Amino acid sequence: MSDDGLDGAFVKRWIGLLGERIDAAEQQLTELDAAIGDADHGANMTRGLTASRAALELAQPASPAIACQRVGEALVKSMGGASGPLYGSIFIALGNSLPRDAVIAPRDLVDGLRHSLTSLQAIGAAVVGDKTMLDALQPAVHALAEQLDAGASLAEASVAAAGAANAGAVSTIPLRARKGRASYLGPRSEGHQDPGATSSVLLFDALRDALWLDSRQC
Ligand code: ADP
Ligand code: MG
Repeated sequence: MSDDGLDGAFVKRWIGLLGERIDAAEQQLTELDAAIGDADHGANMTRGLTASRAALELAQPASPAIACQRVGEALVKSMGGASGPLYGSIFIALGNSLPRDAVIAPRDLVDGLRHSLTSLQAIGAAVVGDKTMLDALQPAVHALAEQLDAGASLAEASVAAAGAANAGAVSTIPLRARKGRASYLGPRSEGHQDPGATSSVLLFDALRDALWLDSRQC
C-alpha cells in the first residue's frame, strides 16, 4: 500500500500519469491561454512533461528527492514562458526539502509540497485570488495536509486535494488577473479560467491516480 511509503518509482508513475493528462489536455490549455494570454501554455506543458519523463527514463531514481530534482531541472530547461520557472521551482523545492531516503513518508510529501508553495510565491509573488496556478495549488496542498491530520490515508487525502484543486481552478473564472501576461488585459481577463490553474489540477489528478494505482497493486 502506498501509505507505507513513497519511492522513486512512485514519482516516476506520478509524472508519467501527469504527462498523459497534459497530452490529452494540450488543446484545452492552448485555448484557455489563447483567451487571456498568448496560446502557448499547452505547448509549454507538453514540452516540459516530455522532457521530465525522458529525464526519469535515464535510470531508476534512487529516491523521491532525486526524482523530483530531475523533473524540476527538466521543466526549467525545456519549458518556455512564465510557467517554466514556476513549475520548475515546485519540483526543485520538493526535491530539496524531501528527506534523501529511498522511501519517504506521506507526511514528508505534504511538508515538501508546502515548501513548493513557498518557493512558487517567492518567485512569482502571487497570492490566492490573483488568478494564477496558486489558486489551484494552495487549496490542494492544504486539503492534503488537513486530511492527513484528520487520519486519512495519503490516497484518500489525494482525492480531496484533487477536488480542492479543481474548485480552485474554477474559482479563477470570474477573477481579474493580477499577475502574469493575463494581467495586461485588466477587466477583459474576467470570465475565463486561468490556464496555469487548469494544468495544476492535472498535477493533483495524476497524484491521486498514482496513489490509487499503487494501492490497487498491493
Ligand atoms: P506565459 O504567460 O509566459 O505565456 P504560460 O502560458 O506557460 O506562460 O503560463 C501562464 C500561466 O502561468 C498563467 O495561467 C498563470 O497560472 C501562471 N503565472 C503567470 N504568472 C504567475 C505568477 N507571478 N505566479 C504564479 N503563477 C503565474
Ligand atoms: Mg502563455
